[in-house]
Amino acid sequence: MELITVKDKQFKPYIGEDKIQSAIKGLAVNINIDLRDEFPLFVIVLNGSFMFAADLLKEVHIPCEISFIKVASYHGTSSTGTVTELVGLAEDVTNRTVVIVEDIVDTGATLEKLHAILIKRGVKAIKVATMLLKPDAYKKPIPVNYAGIEIPNDFVVGYGLDYDGQGRNLKDIYVLA
Ligand code: 5GP
Repeated sequence: MELITVKDKQFKPYIGEDKIQSAIKGLAVNINIDLRDEFPLFVIVLNGSFMFAADLLKEVHIPCEISFIKVASYHGTSSTGTVTELVGLAEDVTNRTVVIVEDIVDTGATLEKLHAILIKRGVKAIKVATMLLKPDAYKKPIPVNYAGIEIPNDFVVGYGLDYDGQGRNLKDIYVLA
């Protein structure tokens, strides 16, 4: 097994590109059916979900719009528990069906914050799409409608996810060795 070094830590291969891509195709099939009459607005949560969002939205074939929001809640390998909205949403989301696109749902603190912001702005419905979900860490009541792959409470990098700013460009997902 080939270990890689990201900054000062070693990671081992965890989820390969093929598995990632087939999970995404599965999510998109459901989104294309469920939201075909909704003209949804996909809200991409930067930075981590840029790669997932690009691959997912290439498989979404219904009329939709795409926007970007930037939040931060993680430093190094442990969550600070605080979430800050850095770049707000310019679109009018009143009465829109919004799909929050996340790289990973861990504690759900980020999701909860975004959910509250969107509710305050008068959305019609909120759906959540995430590449990865940590079910053992996620205890919030907000439903995660489209989860690509469920993983245990391990720290992963790659496919958009970083370790201290590095590793986002990796095609596969790696776990701390
Ligand atoms: P939550 O608010 O759900 O606890 O965490 C959300 C954010 O924390 C994610 O969008 C991601 O940026 C970061 N995060 C959570 N778990 C991991 C992980 O295993 N690896 C990396 N690189 N980031 C994570």
